[in-house]
Amino acid sequence: MRRTQARVRNERLRRSQRSGDLRGMEQLTCTAPQKLEWREVPAPRLEGDGEALVRPLAVARCDIDRFLTSGLFPLRGPFAVGHECVAEVTALADGVRGLAIGQRVVVAFQLSCGRCRACTAGRTALCEAMPTLSDYGMQPLSGVEYGGMLSDLVRVPYAEAMLQPISPALDPTALASVSDNVPDGYRAVAPHLAAHRGSEVLIVAHGLPSIPLYAVQAALALGASSVDFASADAEALALAERLGARPIETDFAKPPRTYPIVVDAGLSPAGLSYAVRATEPEGVCQLVSFYPGPPPPVPLGRMYTLGIHLHVGRCHSAALLPEVVSLIEAGRLRPDAITTRVVDWDAAADAFLEPAVKLVVRRN
Ligand SMILES: [Zn+2]
Ligand SMILES: [Zn+2]
Repeated sequence: MRRTQARVRNERLRRSQRSGDLRGMEQLTCTAPQKLEWREVPAPRLEGDGEALVRPLAVARCDIDRFLTSGLFPLRGPFAVGHECVAEVTALADGVRGLAIGQRVVVAFQLSCGRCRACTAGRTALCEAMPTLSDYGMQPLSGVEYGGMLSDLVRVPYAEAMLQPISPALDPTALASVSDNVPDGYRAVAPHLAAHRGSEVLIVAHGLPSIPLYAVQAALALGASSVDFASADAEALALAERLGARPIETDFAKPPRTYPIVVDAGLSPAGLSYAVRATEPEGVCQLVSFYPGPPPPVPLGRMYTLGIHLHVGRCHSAALLPEVVSLIEAGRLRPDAITTRVVDWDAAADAFLEPAVKLVVRRN
């Protein structure tokens, strides 16, 4: 049944691409909490200079996607799912340089112009040309539908700023999460290891499945002298150990020691408190997450007394793509080592709701 649907869909797309008349396309749509379905929607078109249309080839599930599709954030009607992908450029508007039809690219998950004051300072998540939280696949957060990656086509309004070309020799499945979670793990440690070379790093994982593991890999690639990984989850601990970290099984009651660089990758106030207490005096505690529910208590008195530097904020996807892709091309980051499940395109509606540390959907 699925195979037949796929054939019909692919044939329709091929026909419409040949005729240059793309009126409809299939889009994986979240219609209610825990309910995903393929819907026929209008295909995007180029709307102005500097734009591109891309066809996703491999889509990864971001750590936040299961919260978006579960209804943790109140739904505002049906929305397109998916915001991490490797895609192929299928159309370019006038004025786009450095990109070609057929080129493979990583697509930044945040829409950013590349030219405003924030973008030129590397703060592309806060692009001044777009409303805050202008992201693919996150209409429940922003209220605006920009499309999702589990679609036949995606419109990219600022192609040069948002598309990072990758070598055709690289497997799209391996790089699908480079839109968001891979650079998120990277930026959690990169600036702090640059400032304090060779430091010991602790990653605290409680509820975000893949970002803390990308942080482990980045920390080791960037010269951390050791990486410890604290979690209550046996699968996460085993994966971290395989990447080269020392696993610390914990219920987050009390950290065994302190570290100069600590990354808190999770959702629970107990995990956050553990991370702050595990940060040594004048050390850095980097948060890569939000804490749903009532604001968690933060021990400001301890932080003030010991000089603990708390960093919090989103990853700046477009700004980070060039350096992350060049580390992957050099073989220093291997995001496929964190992928635990790969499924074909037509299995996405089921697979996107099922547990997995890192799920990638590939176009068959
Ligand atoms: Zn994301
Ligand atoms: Zn901008």
